[in-house]
Amino acid sequence: MAEIRDTVILGSGCAGLTAALYTARAGLKPLVLEGHEPGGQLSITTLVENFPGWPDGIQGPELIANMKKQAARFGAEYQHALLESVEVGAHPIKLRTSTSGPGCEIHTRTLIVASGASARWLGLPSEQALIGRGVSSCATCDGFFFRDKDIAVVGGGDSAMEEAIFLSRFASKVTLLHRRDAFRASKIMLERAIAHPKIELRTNTVVDEVLGVDEKEVKGLRLRDVKNGEQEELKVSGMFLGIGHEPNTKMFVGQIDLDDEGYIKTTNNVFTTRDGAIVPGVYACGDVQDRRYRQAITAAGSGCMAALEVEKDLEERRH
Ligand SMILES: Cc1cc2nc3c(=O)[nH]c(=O)nc-3n(C[C@H](O)[C@H](O)[C@H](O)COP(=O)(O)OP(=O)(O)OC[C@H]3O[C@@H](n4cnc5c(N)ncnc54)[C@H](O)[C@@H]3O)c2cc1C
Repeated sequence: MAEIRDTVILGSGCAGLTAALYTARAGLKPLVLEGHEPGGQLSITTLVENFPGWPDGIQGPELIANMKKQAARFGAEYQHALLESVEVGAHPIKLRTSTSGPGCEIHTRTLIVASGASARWLGLPSEQALIGRGVSSCATCDGFFFRDKDIAVVGGGDSAMEEAIFLSRFASKVTLLHRRDAFRASKIMLERAIAHPKIELRTNTVVDEVLGVDEKEVKGLRLRDVKNGEQEELKVSGMFLGIGHEPNTKMFVGQIDLDDEGYIKTTNNVFTTRDGAIVPGVYACGDVQDRRYRQAITAAGSGCMAALEVEKDLEERRH
């Protein structure tokens, strides 16, 4: 019979690592499954200036490495594995991971889901090479770095409009690029963007390449008109993706309540539900249950909440 763990944490971003720190200090020896992106989204960015405690900012990978070390000091364990399937209703909860051999099945009394919501990218090699160097998917996080610069936002829905309007506080000009000839955004958001003096909207336009890979910073975009195939260069210092996020929740479909975009629905921030009733032992924290804020500090905060609920839950089961 496999060992039954007190808690397993799914994901090693800020939410998962904060939950690991708290549960490790409570003596619960958490196991963290690191997933496809060890360290989470902060591990792919550069300077983070809005995480409290770092007056000069800190590089995202360094912040994550510190969090990991801090939780390990109190006994958190890490496994390079991906959760492939889960039986949430089983007692103990059964997890099947991508590792081979007997270790692939894990039994646990509680589960903290901190699997994040991955930003959607265009998928261009030049774009991937310049993430954190002018390419971003987070206007709140990185807008500040583009004061008085020309930038582009890609997308045609409300999140792209919101990003463009927010970024116009900093940028000298925002060019909104959309591949279709009509926008999906709501009328009110579209009207606001159209009326904005710093925003220019361009339809039927796709990005073929982000320029500046050799210089290690965005220098411009190679654009293509999808109607006539003509290419041109747009000189910008930044490109923001406004094409949405994909919550990493496939393995929970049918087991816990998800909203229409796949985010985990939570009650009191971290309690998961099934058909509206709380699912015992399964908690969610960070971006996977937060379509609104999606910040490192809010993810860390809810990671703490989930860990405290796990401690309370296990304590109650002992009495
Ligand atoms: C380019 C960029 C720059 C950013 N800059 C800032 C900033 O300056 N300040 C700020 O506050 N926020 C910033 N953010 C946002 C911030 O990174 C996120 O809000 C934060 O990382 C969310 O943390 P999380 O732990 O909820 O999820 P994530 O960081 O997304 O971590 C999710 C984790 O879950 C794991 N996982 C997923 N699926 C599975 C699975 N099936 N099995 C096992 N593990 C799995 C992944 O491997 C990963 O480790 C930025 C985001 C991006 C993309």
